Amino acid sequence: MVVPVRVAVIGSGPAGLYTAEALIKQAAGGVRVDVFDRLPTPYGLVRYGVAPDHTSIKSIARYLQRVLESPGVRFFGCVELGRDLTRDELLTCYDAVVYATGAMVDRRLRVPGEDLPGSVAATDFVNWYCGHPDAAGHAFDLSAEDVAVIGVGNVAVDVVRILAKTPDELRSTDIPEHVLDALTASRVRRVHLIGRRGPAQAKFTTKEARELGQLPSAEIHVRPEDMEQDVTADDAAAERDRLVRGNLKVLRGWTGAPTGDRPRRIDVRFWRAPVELLGTGRVEAVRLERTRPDGAGRVVGTGEYETLPAGLVLRSVGYQSVALEGVPFDEDAFVVPNDGGRIVAADGTRQPGEYVAGWIKRGPTGVVGTNKSDAAETVAHLLADLAATPYRAAASVEELLAARGLTPVSYTDWLNLDAAEVALGASLSRGERVKLAHWDAMRDACRRTE
Ligand SMILES: Cc1cc2nc3c(=O)[nH]c(=O)nc-3n(C[C@H](O)[C@H](O)[C@H](O)COP(=O)(O)OP(=O)(O)OC[C@H]3O[C@@H](n4cnc5c(N)ncnc54)[C@H](O)[C@@H]3O)c2cc1C
Repeated sequence: MVVPVRVAVIGSGPAGLYTAEALIKQAAGGVRVDVFDRLPTPYGLVRYGVAPDHTSIKSIARYLQRVLESPGVRFFGCVELGRDLTRDELLTCYDAVVYATGAMVDRRLRVPGEDLPGSVAATDFVNWYCGHPDAAGHAFDLSAEDVAVIGVGNVAVDVVRILAKTPDELRSTDIPEHVLDALTASRVRRVHLIGRRGPAQAKFTTKEARELGQLPSAEIHVRPEDMEQDVTADDAAAERDRLVRGNLKVLRGWTGAPTGDRPRRIDVRFWRAPVELLGTGRVEAVRLERTRPDGAGRVVGTGEYETLPAGLVLRSVGYQSVALEGVPFDEDAFVVPNDGGRIVAADGTRQPGEYVAGWIKRGPTGVVGTNKSDAAETVAHLLADLAATPYRAAASVEELLAARGLTPVSYTDWLNLDAAEVALGASLSRGERVKLAHWDAMRDACRRTE
């Protein structure tokens, strides 16, 4: 009889679950996969990143659920690598380990005033409205009329959209009740979306941009002069790109004079770099410097400044992964150094039995689906390595966790939590589900057996 290989996957986001799926498919039954997550809930950023009003993308969770329900796959929630288990322990329990822990730390602006209260990482705001338990106690001051969102990627656009939508437009989403209450009380009227570079370099996708322009309760405006900034060779080349052409077409449609006939307004501003956040005790404004292309693919400051009022500043200028204890990490690229998913130590040698997938492998790029082929590549290498150099780990992770007094959240426990959220949505007449966001409420719902 062939003894199945045992693989631990750390992280139950898309990368982790596509890895589990690829293992089952490629090993054709000869594998047992244990998927660990520090949260009691699977699906990573599909649950805690993808915007609540993007229900069709969120439905990817239904596909990933089938992976978790596959024979040979087990879920261990509330087990954090580095806190509850070490890397060395994992390697004694599994023939191979795949790290798929994502990238959810914001990059910093590195400008004075960045640490003033009211200057917030967009990820913290996203975590809050997505009901991440680490953010359940956060409070965002939405009492000022102006909010600035720095960065012009899809996450920035998500954040702007959530701020610009009315409570009625968000009621049917899974946003937790306390978040919906805070957004209902919001006095925000103008959301400024600020890009350091020009329209041709905006990172958002055309679909996201178009959606922003179609909000019934918010008008959107781009200054015509921001669209007409000198077209550089870069811009001309970029315009040949389908995505850029699509974005420019949408943006040009927003250059008409504002009519002021809607309760909220989105102001998109290009060629402006934040140089300082201003305020006494908390953020009150952003000082911006106009920029222009330098002809070599970057921008330079022009020495012209302006001050934009903003009671809340949300920084969305990129994400990075965090290092895992004992696992090599590239401090410049913020990824685990790897060759097609095989972890490579600082001296260039391979780390046998250790692999990466998803954002921690390649950085925060691509859509959910990108993680599927990425995971398949890692798994192909992992299985080839195990076939060439068989390794048999002997220790039991259950015994190790039990000896530590830890009871992981099982897949059945998660289904209890899932059912509690669906029931909450129905009882509030809101939608398919309303998320529980507090650790205690989540743990209680997991253990419910009736
Ligand atoms: C705000 C936002 C919105 C997005 N919207 C979209 C969208 O609309 N459409 C789209 O296609 N893509 C979207 N994406 C991109 C998509 O979410 C990512 O491509 C994808 O989630 C990356 O998968 P991952 O598994 O590498 O990371 P993640 O999804 O982050 O999963 C990592 C998992 O690892 C767990 N973990 C972390 N550290 C540990 C540890 N030490 N021990 C145990 N577990 C750990 C985490 O809890 C998490 O569950 C969005 C991303 C963000 C940030």
